[in-house]
Amino acid sequence: MNKVIIIGCGGVGTVCAHKCAQNPDVFHEIVIASRNRAKCDAVARAIGAPNVTTDQVDADEIDQLVALFNRHKPNLVINLALPYQDLTIMEACLQCGVNYLDTANYEPRDEAHFEYSWQWAYRERFEKAGLTAILGCGFDPGVTSIYTAYAAKHHFKEIHYLDIVDCNAGDHHKAFATNFNPEINIREITQKGLYWEDGKWVETEPLEFHKDLTYPNIGPRDSYLLHHEEIESLVINYPTIKRARFWMTFGQQYLKHLEVIQNIGMSRIDEVEYEAPLADGTGNVRVKIVPLQFLKAVLPNPQDLGENYEGETSIGCRIRGIGNDGQEHTYYIYNNCSHRAAYEETGMQAVSYTTGVPAMTGAMMFLKGLWAMPGVHNVEEFDPDPFLAEVAKQGLPWHELHDIDLEL
Ligand code: NDP
Repeated sequence: MNKVIIIGCGGVGTVCAHKCAQNPDVFHEIVIASRNRAKCDAVARAIGAPNVTTDQVDADEIDQLVALFNRHKPNLVINLALPYQDLTIMEACLQCGVNYLDTANYEPRDEAHFEYSWQWAYRERFEKAGLTAILGCGFDPGVTSIYTAYAAKHHFKEIHYLDIVDCNAGDHHKAFATNFNPEINIREITQKGLYWEDGKWVETEPLEFHKDLTYPNIGPRDSYLLHHEEIESLVINYPTIKRARFWMTFGQQYLKHLEVIQNIGMSRIDEVEYEAPLADGTGNVRVKIVPLQFLKAVLPNPQDLGENYEGETSIGCRIRGIGNDGQEHTYYIYNNCSHRAAYEETGMQAVSYTTGVPAMTGAMMFLKGLWAMPGVHNVEEFDPDPFLAEVAKQGLPWHELHDIDLEL
């Protein structure tokens, strides 16, 4: 009997729950748990399957997680809450003997900084407990890392240059909105850029480098060099890589808003004092707020963008290296995903869809025994073939181009 608990019921959690429920032969029981149980209930109702139930948990609290896991005794936890909860959930998994999967690496709340070291520190404990932890199983990180593993397995003796390219050519008809959790998204984009070259990290100013890249079925889009977490593990797992970079498209309208948000201090993540009126109108009280968390409360909810979202995303890997024939080759592997099709299937836009579908597929790989490997592993460490065959069937088909101009 396979039982999973999905923690977090935002855009990504909702898609993942729908997709797990579409595969009842693998996911026999599905529990959706979040701080706000009413949201989980609404998703369970929309799915309308008897094997989908809900619960409540504050995943910042290890005791609550342990109680949740002991109540349900799942084989696997799919962590689709926020990066802040990764370590508490991993800790509870160890206490209860539960396997683990996530889509984003740990980030402390008080510092806009992410890296794998905090989660890699759990390797030995997971290994000793005979438990598998699968890190970064969304699209990027996730499918992009698996595309790289597939290229290394089938096409290249040595990968030399890797550029991960992420384009959202969708239009949600809002002046400004983020496609996933605004707090996490703005923290990621406003930090310094970073890429790997000749054995070391090179730092850039935020959004300092950009260039037009041409995306399949979309055309040229201005693409900005960002730091992205999958680069950190890929350059370790593929040491022949001389340079690895990550590019993401942004429109001028988005960047204009982002600049203003930063200039007026709304992207700050430290606490500021604010005099707030008491709810009963009897006076004021001084409270502490984090401006970026307040901003999240007034921005459009990413889960509500789907209805009028047009266009598509295109995410992939552009690779140059030495092929199996000893000659230099270029290679581009990518997926395009329509916002409208994603919404019609799950009620969520393509950014949530392209994250939730791989999370479900990775969970399926684990439950089928294809990706069970005690320890803490990034997704490229597993066999890419069964995953890519399955993810294509589950809504994210992929395409390959050989010996083309990579533009990079
Ligand atoms: P949302 O903000 O839409 O959802 C986050 C969910 O986490 C909410 O349902 C919230 O629940 C829940 N949550 C937050 N804090 C807690 C807590 N302490 N305990 C329990 N539940 C909690 O985010 P998204 O769905 O857009 O993103 C989910 C994750 O996916 C994030 O970690 C994000 O970084 C990652 N992601 C990964 C991508 C990839 O390609 N790898 C791409 C996009 C996102 P509640 O409302 O009940 O508080």
